[in-house]
Amino acid sequence: MAETKRTKNRCSFCGRSEDEVGFLITGLNGFICDSCASQAYEITQEAMGSAKEDVSKKLNLKDLPKPKGIKEFLDEYVIGQDDAKRFLSVSVYNHYKRLLQKDAGDDVEIEKSNIIMVGSTGTGKTLLARTIAKLLNVPFTIVDATVLTEAGYVGEDIESILTRLLQVADYNVPEAERGIVFIDEIDKIARKGDNPSITRDVSGEGVQQGLLKLLEGSIVNVPPQGGRKHPDQKMIPVNTKNILFICGGAFDGIEKKIAQRLNTHVVGYSAVKHTANIDKNNLMQYIAPQDLKAFGLIPEIIGRLPVLTYLNPLDREALRAILTEPKNSIIKQYVKLFEMDGVRLTFDDTVFEYIVDKAIEFKLGARGLRSIVETIMIDSMFEIPSTHQDSFVVTLDYAQQQIAKANPGRLQSV
Ligand code: ADP
Repeated sequence: MAETKRTKNRCSFCGRSEDEVGFLITGLNGFICDSCASQAYEITQEAMGSAKEDVSKKLNLKDLPKPKGIKEFLDEYVIGQDDAKRFLSVSVYNHYKRLLQKDAGDDVEIEKSNIIMVGSTGTGKTLLARTIAKLLNVPFTIVDATVLTEAGYVGEDIESILTRLLQVADYNVPEAERGIVFIDEIDKIARKGDNPSITRDVSGEGVQQGLLKLLEGSIVNVPPQGGRKHPDQKMIPVNTKNILFICGGAFDGIEKKIAQRLNTHVVGYSAVKHTANIDKNNLMQYIAPQDLKAFGLIPEIIGRLPVLTYLNPLDREALRAILTEPKNSIIKQYVKLFEMDGVRLTFDDTVFEYIVDKAIEFKLGARGLRSIVETIMIDSMFEIPSTHQDSFVVTLDYAQQQIAKANPGRLQSV
């Protein structure tokens, strides 16, 4: 039997046959080879990059949200924390102004005001940063300081902080150079102990020195893939002069340092009067740069974070509000989930009080509200979609039963 000779498929762009290329991707009326596909990708990236540059040049003060507008937006998602919100709103607005001023070539140079936010864990630092990111039209990223170590040690190099920023800017360097970076858990790189140690403090002072370079504004070689897993990668130089850094940390135990300072500074009659006004339940509001130094941040870093603000601990009232008031509050999210199955979900008001009680009892703070609600709702979320039920009311009895039968370990604080 005569063998029919099969015609070879060819790339519709370069004409090479399937034997001459890595592989062919089949389209409706033709093929594209691996090398033409990657060239096409590069061309698209370049075109998108220049389009982006055009967009950023169009940054216009008139169209930018004003500090009040930024705060109002934050109010929709974050309960309380007015002080931090005001500082953040002004800093972000000024950041835009600096970017615009650079374009105008003025001789009064506005220096950037990096921010540091201090507040117990679960009080809304990351939430504030994430919410502000929704509003921004500059690249924004959140990085965690705990993974950072000095170059040469296990962990991530400081430069990798900028990798994420480059990634969200689609590797458009000028765009990344005007971005905002939120560094979470900055307190974890504090020097252990007040005295500079003789042995090397891999995760402390050395990392702070490295970070200083970034905060000050310098040209940093950034590994585009991040980490140390790709030793051959070509570094991308990024100038950090116009990048705004917002740092956040819990600074556990810093209240003691604040209390010490407030006491030691009190000498004489007028000082006694002054201490009488101090709200001992919320010492955080008196935080000052000296306290950060006493905690173990080096003065140079503190100097590069000129805007210092704090977050209040969340009281009962705030926890109750967090459950239902923010635009995408926990309860609204569950109502939405049920609504998608055609079920109207409602809660008796007493249930909210009960959830707050549990969050306080288990010392879980705002972070625990979700796990408590999840524990209450898990059975109904499992059962109801398979029924014809069109409404479900969560009563106090039901909530109590669900919590009573849950594994208590799930609800303990970590
Ligand atoms: P932090 O970064 O301060 O440790 P987060 O911002 O991650 O805390 O808060 C944890 C969760 O708790 C948030 O995702 C949010 O659901 C809730 N939460 C905390 N504080 C607030 C607040 N002030 N307003 C609304 N929700 C909050």
